[in-house]
Amino acid sequence: MKLDVDVLRYLSKDDFRVLTAVEMGMRNHEIVPSELIDRIASLKHGGTYKVLKNLLKHKLLHHDSSKYDGFRLTYLGYDFLAIKTLVNRGVFTAVGRQIGVGKESDIFEVAKEDGTILAMKLHRLGRVSFRAVKSKRDYLKHRSSYNWLYLSRLAALKEFAFMKALEEHGFPVPLAVDSNRHCVVMSLIQGYPLVQVKELQNPDTVFETIVGLVVRLAEHGLIHCDFNEFNIMIDDDEKVTMIDFPQMVSVSHHNAQMYFDRDVECIFKFFSKRFNLSFEENAGHSDDSKVDSEEVGRPSFADIKKVTGFLDKELSASGFTRKDQDDIERFTGDDVEKDLDSDDKESADEPIEKDEGHFEVFDSLSLLMEEGNPVEQGETSKEDTEMKQDVVSENEGPNDLGTVPEEGRQTEHENEPELTKRLNKQRRRAIQAVQGGRKNFTSRNSYKDKGGRSSHNSKIQKQLGNW
Ligand code: ADP
Ligand code: MG
Repeated sequence: MKLDVDVLRYLSKDDFRVLTAVEMGMRNHEIVPSELIDRIASLKHGGTYKVLKNLLKHKLLHHDSSKYDGFRLTYLGYDFLAIKTLVNRGVFTAVGRQIGVGKESDIFEVAKEDGTILAMKLHRLGRVSFRAVKSKRDYLKHRSSYNWLYLSRLAALKEFAFMKALEEHGFPVPLAVDSNRHCVVMSLIQGYPLVQVKELQNPDTVFETIVGLVVRLAEHGLIHCDFNEFNIMIDDDEKVTMIDFPQMVSVSHHNAQMYFDRDVECIFKFFSKRFNLSFEENAGHSDDSKVDSEEVGRPSFADIKKVTGFLDKELSASGFTRKDQDDIERFTGDDVEKDLDSDDKESADEPIEKDEGHFEVFDSLSLLMEEGNPVEQGETSKEDTEMKQDVVSENEGPNDLGTVPEEGRQTEHENEPELTKRLNKQRRRAIQAVQGGRKNFTSRNSYKDKGGRSSHNSKIQKQLGNW
């Protein structure tokens, strides 16, 4: 998949409105019925279907008519929504080259207006584990809209929250800058993953630092769970930075000991193989009197004085709750990998797409701003808000096709009585519309009809610079 941000420039306000409508519909539906998209977007002059066609052309949506006529967001569509929001917030103005492809993420350089380069991580949690998610039928029974969108968003939320909390406790991690949807923006680490490093000036010191980090994490009640040479960055001064936090668990997790030992084992194995470090077996245990003081002992989970509650207290303050943690753990544990091996016929909807090549360095989004476009400052425009209310109405309407996960509901206006009042009014109107049939729902055929009648391209051209 190529993240061609250039397309962003050619998308109109209506394009984004419809794209957002699909995103909202996906809270309830894996495939959002076309009629629902039309209803949520409620474009002033109709024309949702022409816009859908355009979004489809740019691969921001996927069309599915196997069960009924509908659409869902692609990764690219979701990427664009997040990128647009972050650009609007002024977090960055340009997207550059891809600097990393993890098993469940893509990492890009992004540039701020003043030229500072940051790292943007787009989570792809569904990429490998969506199939496993689908196989958790008992759990899914009550959550029809559990999908990669939700999981990737949760992963980003968790990563951002952990990065912030860890940084505040003096851990060497990237600086968390901002996050939206499945996207996390952080400082760019000037270094290389340890796996690429063939030689170290002071392998012993680096090793001790790294093992010390695993221990200190546990003392803070945390286990990284993927602590290895791929997630440890090292710079020219051999300064260590740890990255990649979506799979971290609490020391009170039922598999905590196993995860901790596995993290430790990874580091010991890697340093012994790559840098020929030798270790005294069983060293480090408090009951072991034969510890060689010259060598770093293997830390024992049981011996670490752990402070639990770190997750609950500090992370919930950043919006990441214990429930979020429980949810995400269900899909990132070892059992997920097992599930992946099983031959589940209901395979992932989303094919595994990898970026084959690099795109132009710094496709500049700043142009968008320089052209005098009214870039929204906040994440939610008035029109978006109206759409959100329509979604809520749809959940309460007679055509409710699924349950809404609590975490999917919009809560940001709870403390604003004026806005709530206005929104409630809109909501009532929308419910009436749904029940009374204010609109004639367009069929798939009229999509074709309409598409043929108006000059779609010239309209889009006119709207350029309008989002
Ligand atoms: P995943 O969860 O998919 O493994 P990671 O967070 O480990 O993703 O990132 C994948 C790769 O991207 C890393 O190995 C590293 O090379 C690069 N990377 C990630 N974050 C940063 C960063 N803040 N600065 C520089 N490079 C990074
Ligand atoms: Mg990683």
